[in-house]
Amino acid sequence: MKSRANKLILTVAGTILLPIILFTIYEISSISESEKVIERAYENQLDAIIFSVNQYSNDNLSGIMDKIEQQLNDSLELPAKSPIIAYSNLHALLFTNLKTGRFKAQIFHNALNDLSENFWVNLRDSLDLAQAKTKDQLIRYKEGGYRKIEPTGIIRLKNGTYQLINVVLEHNSAPVYCIGVLSIDGFANNVLAPRLQQIADNELIITLGYAGAENFIYTTDSLRKDVMSQKCMWLLPTVEVGISSKNKTVKELVQERFYYNIAASMMLLLLLIFGFTMVYRNYRKEMRLAQNKSDFVSNVSHELRTPLALISMFAETLLLDRVANHDKRKEYEKIILKETNRLTNIVNKILNFSQIENNKRSYHPEPVNVSDVTKELLSDYAYHIERNGFTFESQLEADLPMVKIDKEALYEALVNLLDNAMKYSEDRKALIFRTGMAGDSIFVEVQDQGIGIPKDKINQIFDKFYRVTDGNIHTTRGAGLGLALVNHLMEAHGGKITVDSKLGKGTKFKLIFNTKDNGSDLNR
Ligand code: ATP
Ligand code: MG
Repeated sequence: MKSRANKLILTVAGTILLPIILFTIYEISSISESEKVIERAYENQLDAIIFSVNQYSNDNLSGIMDKIEQQLNDSLELPAKSPIIAYSNLHALLFTNLKTGRFKAQIFHNALNDLSENFWVNLRDSLDLAQAKTKDQLIRYKEGGYRKIEPTGIIRLKNGTYQLINVVLEHNSAPVYCIGVLSIDGFANNVLAPRLQQIADNELIITLGYAGAENFIYTTDSLRKDVMSQKCMWLLPTVEVGISSKNKTVKELVQERFYYNIAASMMLLLLLIFGFTMVYRNYRKEMRLAQNKSDFVSNVSHELRTPLALISMFAETLLLDRVANHDKRKEYEKIILKETNRLTNIVNKILNFSQIENNKRSYHPEPVNVSDVTKELLSDYAYHIERNGFTFESQLEADLPMVKIDKEALYEALVNLLDNAMKYSEDRKALIFRTGMAGDSIFVEVQDQGIGIPKDKINQIFDKFYRVTDGNIHTTRGAGLGLALVNHLMEAHGGKITVDSKLGKGTKFKLIFNTKDNGSDLNR
């Protein structure tokens, strides 16, 4: 049986526990993989956002360039109060007519007024030198009918950092090379901010900041966590657009998913362990029952065989008139009667038990004095007890309240306990019967000084067909039904049976009836 149980454990471990454990290990080892997957998702999102921001910036500046192209006059100047300029964040514009070579620097922000004409000429010249290729390319584009705006570097002036943007315009059919001095802070806060707010919505936080700098130029919300991913813009290459989740960082998201998965697999594991324990307990119970049943068959056969053999032997002797005198004959007849009674008892017990098992037994509850029933039992059995060499003591409480139970059932339970007390006692043949009250319950105890019950077997003695296999099992007879029967009777009366036993010292069985709500289960 043990090897079958081991096989069951191994099968369950192999088919259920192992995959779960492997899954948990896989989950732990795939944390960084999951982080990468989520980071990639954020990066894709960032790409989409940057694309949209770039497009927006380009469209905005392109629109302004259209207006500039329209408003530029012959002396390469714009009307000073031009509303587009006021909102464009272009703080200065440097025009060079590429046909005539005429140069004009137009300043729109007071802070730049201090700078001399020379400063702007130098700036243009240095850009011409450094970005010659870009300039040529922009001219070619323009000739081909496409106007491109190209960033060519930044300058840091007193009132801020500026992005230089280069574009070729057309004025009176002559190409005009234009360098715009774009305030990065102004453009970020006035032009990009509303757009970023719109993109960020409630989910994201979008930031704009100089690469490597700690402070942001603009952020759609106060940032509580690290920026998850960031990239530079086309038109403002020194500015990085960053995104972060408003709720959770990548690490938190991954960890949350990880803990969720682990918790789910642990729950599953616990459920499976619970289920497995239940199955295993049932399996063991069934096994025990199967074992008990097979013991029962051999016990009962033995039980029946002995009296049958005696009856048959003495009946035959009587029949053949081989008995010498009258006394002997009487003795043999007594033996036959005794053995017949014993047989009847066994058969009755089995029938009785099967009736109870099938819920066919009916009870007749009536107010009963437990002390009186015990007294009746002792007067009926006193001769039987003493003849078997036992002494008994009765400590019966006189004023016990009545309890509503089936008197026959109580009597039957006590007979079973008395039978056991006598069967499982060896040298010390002393019994004590006690009744009393404890709290709301009334009890009756049967105590012996017999062989006792091993601790590890106590839980099984109420199982049907179970008999303790060590001790005097071979010298005593029984079907293993007595205590199961008592247990059933007690449960039917809403009471219970408890046992207190010390191996080699003795055993005390206690029947407990509740005076409140008693008998509610009767006649189920
Ligand atoms: P049956 O009562 O059907 O004739 P049984 O006495 O073996 O057979 P139970 O009365 O159910 O069966 O008892 C179950 C087992 O519990 C017994 O076989 C015995 O090993 C143990 N047992 C019961 N009462 C005592 C006791 N007073 N002292 C020691 N062991 C006991
Ligand atoms: Mg018994």
